[in-house]
Amino acid sequence: EEGRGGWHLFSSDERVRERMQNRVYWKEQIEQALREDRFLLYFQPVLDICTNTIGHYEVLLRMRDPRGRIISPGQFIPVAEQSGLIHSIDHLVLQKAITKQARLWSQGYKLTLSINLSGRVVDDPELVPILEDLLRTTGVDPSSLMFEVTETAAVADMMAAANLMHKIKAHGCQFALDDFGVGFSSFFHLKQLPVDYVKIDGMFVRQLVENHQDRVFVKALSEIAKGLGKKAIAEFVEDAEALILLREYGVDYAQGYYIGRPAPHIIEAPCSEGKLA
Ligand code: C2E
Ligand code: CA
Ligand code: CA
Ligand code: CA
Repeated sequence: EEGRGGWHLFSSDERVRERMQNRVYWKEQIEQALREDRFLLYFQPVLDICTNTIGHYEVLLRMRDPRGRIISPGQFIPVAEQSGLIHSIDHLVLQKAITKQARLWSQGYKLTLSINLSGRVVDDPELVPILEDLLRTTGVDPSSLMFEVTETAAVADMMAAANLMHKIKAHGCQFALDDFGVGFSSFFHLKQLPVDYVKIDGMFVRQLVENHQDRVFVKALSEIAKGLGKKAIAEFVEDAEALILLREYGVDYAQGYYIGRPAPHIIEAPCSEGKLA
């Protein structure tokens, strides 16, 4: 329209349209999957570095597409967060994870399950009542549940986020600050939020052995966690050498492909006594 740069404008319109179509596509996929009960949970072990045992699993969401293929949450969580469908997903994950936890405990698998909450939890007035209802009906020990929140969940409204967490913690559940270290103001958020654990982002851990800067960061992040009385978890632990360094830095827990990949079943031995080979 301005005579110059018109092509540019057109191309960015195209991109916007493509993104919109993508969004519409995934929104429909999510709605259909919710209706057809095609969401399922995977579980990834978290190693207690000190005792060399696994007593804790992170719950990771998957979608099965109409052809039976497994879709990762990176594909649909962002669209779900934009479209408001995320609340339904959060509720579904809570319901499936807590039901699973009740079954595990009744079979003697006294593990902790760590559940990811979306970046939109603070706008969800139904979350706490649903959680309370599930705790009541299943009889699950609340201290065996942990919730992972990222900074993005808190930045919009820090007070609301802290209040929500206090309310849930009053039942005995624990909290972790996920993706720690990647945000603009991780330390500020750590100071404001009542978390028991920090999960050092995988970005700092993946190349720990080769990268000197990453070692400096992880060591410092671990010391900060410890100094504040919180436990540190490192994710993306992909080899034995990284685990050795993490132990040296005083990191409490390790999660990653070296420990175990996310899987649809928990295959550990009963209780939390299974030692890692
Ligand atoms: P996250 O919470 O940071 O989860 C860690 C991601 O890293 C998982 O990807 C996990 O499979 C992957 N991972 C674990 N160990 C390794 C490793 O050693 N190397 C590498 N390269 N990757 C590893 P996933 O399952 O695709 O989940 C991606 C993100 O989707 C999660 O990041 C989380 O933000 C979100 N998400 C997953 N499940 C849920 C859920 O139930 N609800 C919500 N709201 N978000 C979820
Ligand atoms: Ca997580
Ligand atoms: Ca993470
Ligand atoms: Ca993440």
